[in-house]
Amino acid sequence: MGSIYYLVGIFILFTGFIIYILGSYGLLEWNIFTFSTCYPAASIETLLFTIGIIKQIKHEKEVNNKLQLEVITDKLTNIYNRRYFEETVVNKILQLEKEKSLVSMLVLDIDHFKKVNDTYGHSTGDLVLSETAMIIKQCLRKEDILVRWGGEEFVAVLPFTDSKESTIIAETIRLSIENHRFKFVNKITVSIGIAEKDIVEDFHSWFRRADNALYNAKENGRNTVCVCYTNEIKNNS
Ligand code: GH3
Ligand code: MG
Ligand code: MG
Repeated sequence: MGSIYYLVGIFILFTGFIIYILGSYGLLEWNIFTFSTCYPAASIETLLFTIGIIKQIKHEKEVNNKLQLEVITDKLTNIYNRRYFEETVVNKILQLEKEKSLVSMLVLDIDHFKKVNDTYGHSTGDLVLSETAMIIKQCLRKEDILVRWGGEEFVAVLPFTDSKESTIIAETIRLSIENHRFKFVNKITVSIGIAEKDIVEDFHSWFRRADNALYNAKENGRNTVCVCYTNEIKNNS
């Protein structure tokens, strides 16, 4: 990146050095021209080297940021992957727990997705997956975190949100997907399980409750949102 600055810098330094050697051995006459070519060369070269180094550091930073983003992004859907969840979201949840803030989780699963693959092929299935992720993301707020949990399953963490507000958001997602017309496949639906985190419960118990709510949504005929309150599961649609 900064190599052009290094090259020009080296060229100027080299020219200045040659003039200096020739001048020192009396092979070149010291005059205003040779003097002004020789001495400022070192300063110009230093400046160009500095610019070159700054440019290189900036470029390396950009490449590094891009690589880091790639590591935490699911290639197919372009949303966060499970690794991001385990490395970053879990800490965010712990922080919310410390602050005693509300936080809810949605577990979303596409209904009868195997049939989509079997009927229209795997690459159409891939398109449906990435379009679904996009719709879910559009229904969420800036502070919400969406990850592809695996296969056709997504998890969204909604900070500062109770189960009531989460249900409204989940219903918006469910309806948006139900009303969306997908290329080739036309219509698909999703089932959504919700659980608001209990202050004392650990992540696994919270996730299990959201997953149980999803299971209930499937049992209740799919294309449904279910909430798991601390000790019970309620159907919301
Ligand atoms: P249910 O309504 O009970 O969720 O049924 P389902 O068919 O959606 O669930 P099942 O778990 O039986 O099938 C999930 C399918 O998702 C099976 C698998 O081939 C497919 N799948 C998982 N990952 C991908 C992917 O990255 N691309 C595509 N196209 N399909 C995938
Ligand atoms: Mg499914
Ligand atoms: Mg599934």
